[in-house]
Parts: sequence; structure tokens; C-alpha cells
Amino acid sequence: KRKSDNSFDYFLMVQQWPASYCDTKKGCCFPVTGEPGPFFGIHGLWPNRNDGTYPSSCGNEAFDPSELAGVVDHLNTKWGTLACKSRYNEDFWEHEWSKHGTCSGLTQHQYFQASLDLYNNFDITGALRNAGIVPDDRFYSIANITSALTELLGFAPQIECNKDPEGNRQLHQVYICVAKDASTIIECPASIRNPCQGSVQFPVYGSAPSRHAV
Ligand code: 5GP
Ligand code: 5GP
Ligand code: 5GP
Repeated sequence: KRKSDNSFDYFLMVQQWPASYCDTKKGCCFPVTGEPGPFFGIHGLWPNRNDGTYPSSCGNEAFDPSELAGVVDHLNTKWGTLACKSRYNEDFWEHEWSKHGTCSGLTQHQYFQASLDLYNNFDITGALRNAGIVPDDRFYSIANITSALTELLGFAPQIECNKDPEGNRQLHQVYICVAKDASTIIECPASIRNPCQGSVQFPVYGSAPSRHAV
């Protein structure tokens, strides 16, 4: 694909379990707006192609926080940064807008609103809880996690794991496939690169070490 090809087929809506992001050698830092709640958080809404490639950084429309008037409070609680390079959520949103949002065909307001709507309409944390899958440091099968989320979404999401400093595999991110309307859940056309299998730890929320306490 040529660099100038901004086409895409669907969106990946990616959510992260904060404790798993934090419970790595790299650690995490909480945003200046405060520690996130015990919920999956938004990582991003990413245009993707069926062949596994994806467009990125499709335009030079600068991130404009004034387009977020009215949704900033929701973004702060649901799309918070955990990376230590900046504790300002706006820096994370700017990165996601520039790299992925500019390829979405949406305005900035639409892009962030669509992400929030998807988040609010599909309560991943709650669906897992309803299936008895809770962050208690125990191990859960990917099959059970997938089936609980399939009941919520109508289609199976894809699960990504990472490793804690002891080498345990833990539930890190959930990838949901969404049509180009940025709201309809669809069956995932292709696999993410390193799908997780077997059973994985669901880390206790709040137990994760972080590099800089708030
Ligand atoms: P990682 O290597 O940590 O999985 O991904 C690094 C970055 O590459 C992500 O933050 C995201 O911006 C981009 N990326 C990784 N996989 C995909 C994908 O399947 N689709 C899109 N659109 N971006 C991806
Ligand atoms: P991606 O390129 O994977 O879409 O986004 C990852 C980039 O966003 C990295 O530069 C990372 O430092 C930054 N970032 C800021 N906050 C977070 C966060 O909470 N989770 C992840 N995965 N990346 C974050
Ligand atoms: P609502 O915004 O309608 O109260 O909740 C909609 C979604 O937000 C649900 O998925 C719920 O689990 C989640 N939610 C509620 N409160 C919080 C919170 O403080 N932080 C995060 N990240 N999600 C929340």
C-alpha cells in the first residue's frame, strides 16, 4: 500500500485494563486529573484494513481541544493516559487523533464522541463481572472471557495479553471490530498479531506498582 492510501475497511476499538498496563517493568503514571476508576479504559479507535495493514497520520489537521467542549469530563474518566511520558490526557488524545483519527473520515468532535458512545454502549467491565470474571488476580480462560464479551457485543472481540514482571500472562486489551459507521459492531475480519490463548490473570485493580505515585 502506498503511503498516500488512506483507505480502510473497519475500525478497531481498543480498550485497556489499567492494572495490566501498570503491572509491567515499565510501570505507569496516573493522569493529573486523577487515578482512573476500576474500569477498562479507552486506548483508541483505529481505522484498519481487512488485509491487516492500516493507514496512519493521514492529515495535518491539528488536534483542537475546543472541539471537545462538553465531553472533556467524560474523556478524562474514560480515556485517561497511563504512560509516564505525559500525565496530561490531552497529549494522549492528540497522539491518537493525529495517528488514527485523521484517517477516520470523522471530525474531531465526531471521532471522540463516537469512541465515547461505543464505550458507553458496551460495558466490557460489567459484562465480565456478570460472568463471574473479576479482577481478583485469579486466572480465567480466554474462552470464557471471549464468550462473556460475545454475549455483550454479538461478535467475538480479540484479546491481547501482556506479561507482569514475574512473567504471568495477564488480560491487557480488548479489540472490538466496528463498521465504518463507527457504531455497529461487526465480526472481526482478521486476527490481531499476537492473540492470547489459554488462561490469563486478571490483575487486582489498585495493586499495580506505579513509578510515580500521584
Ligand atoms: P503495539 O505494538 O504496542 O501493539 O502497537 C503500537 C501501536 O501501533 C498502537 O498504539 C497503534 O497505534 C498501532 N497499531 C498496532 N496494531 C494496530 C492495528 O492492528 N491497527 C491499527 N490501526 N493500528 C495498530
Ligand atoms: P498507539 O501508538 O499505540 O496508538 O498509542 C501509544 C502511544 O500513546 C504511546 O506513545 C504511548 O506512550 C501513548 N500513551 C499514552 N497513554 C497511554 C495509555 O494509557 N496506554 C497506551 N497503550 N499508550 C498510551
Ligand atoms: P455512564 O457514563 O452511563 O454512567 O456509564 C457508561 C459506561 O461507563 C459503563 O460502561 C460503565 O461501566 C462505565 N463507567 C461508569 N463510571 C465510570 C468511571 O468512573 N470510569 C470509567 N472508566 N468508566 C465508568
